Amino acid sequence: MEEKKFETQAIRNQLERTQYLEHSSPLFLTSSYVFEDAEDMRSSFAEEKERNIYSRYSNPNNSEFVSKVCHMEGAEAGFAFASGMAAVFSTFAALLDSGDHILSSRSVFGSTHSLYTTYFPKWNIETSFFEGSRLEELESKIQSNTKVIYAESPTNPGVDVLDLEFIGAIAKKHNIIFIVDNCFASPYLQQPIKFGADLVIHSGTKLMDGQGRVLAGITVGTAELIEKIYRFSRITGPALSPFNAWVLSKSLETLAIRVDRHCENALKLATYLESHPNVNWVKYPFLKSHTNYDIAKKQMKAGGCVVSFEIKGGLEAGRKFFDSIKLLSLSANLGDSRSIVTHPASTTHSKLSEEERLKVGITDGTVRVSVGLEHIDDIIKDVAQALS
Ligand SMILES: *Cc1c(COP(=O)(O)O)cnc(C)c1O
Repeated sequence: MEEKKFETQAIRNQLERTQYLEHSSPLFLTSSYVFEDAEDMRSSFAEEKERNIYSRYSNPNNSEFVSKVCHMEGAEAGFAFASGMAAVFSTFAALLDSGDHILSSRSVFGSTHSLYTTYFPKWNIETSFFEGSRLEELESKIQSNTKVIYAESPTNPGVDVLDLEFIGAIAKKHNIIFIVDNCFASPYLQQPIKFGADLVIHSGTKLMDGQGRVLAGITVGTAELIEKIYRFSRITGPALSPFNAWVLSKSLETLAIRVDRHCENALKLATYLESHPNVNWVKYPFLKSHTNYDIAKKQMKAGGCVVSFEIKGGLEAGRKFFDSIKLLSLSANLGDSRSIVTHPASTTHSKLSEEERLKVGITDGTVRVSVGLEHIDDIIKDVAQALS
């Protein structure tokens, strides 16, 4: 399917039809698979042939989902996980040894940050941070034991944009594994492998499902690294449920058309907020005022679904804003068809100290909006009445 365009392969790359000649891929709710005879059983377990043995290892629905994402990202192989965090944790756990060092961008998903600070030290895995806004310092922060450089772009919730090509070149030069959490962009807007990433991680829970129904995660990249992640995961059991894989495969069929509308709505809301008297600042990658507008234009097809802004009047004004919102949901998810407003300081990033929050650009008045697929007039009307 390599020669087909993104939208076409998202739809047409599917499981082979069964004897029933179904048009849409069926759901394979089975924990295990049968063998023809003793020799088939022996050779299957010896991995002399590629086939399904047990759904902790592989399942047709998971394979279809993985195959779609690999094509979208330009990756050789992948493994699907029960959640985005299962993908993040299993990827690190499969690749890192005691004594290794992670060099991570400062602004990462809250739970990823907690892995660095709370759990990895137990296994003698050390993390230090680089600033996405000061990439000229990146190279000097590499240590002799640095195994992984890790980045997210756009970041959560600051929607900062990191120059992935720059980071990728430095990782390559020092022979370090470069991992990108591409969740905020989705594979439709940005393919980090083009910029030198060895592995790309997604929370499938966000734009990939896009309708707030299932938790999922996936890691794709080079066959060599995915083999290690697969070995670890087939033993430890973080595999995605086939039901969720089936839901996601259907969701990916509409990824391009959905994300186009998300981005169109988000840019309109960001533009509206920029001229609002009660707003201090607005950040959205495709606003000309964004610090890294040029990099965003270079590496992304459009700006994504997340807009962040600061309300004038700090915590008190923020509380009033959230209490006045009527249509948009107060929730912690993003990439949903329903627009969502979140207060990062008291929710997703509450585990960070105030100092750590400020370092990643989260003030008490910061509001994150995940712009959904409702009509833009209704989204703006609700935000406008809450702001006033
Ligand atoms: C949500 C999210 C995750 C974690 O995904 P879950 O599916 O919630 O476990 C990781 N990284 C980013 C950037 C996210 O937004």
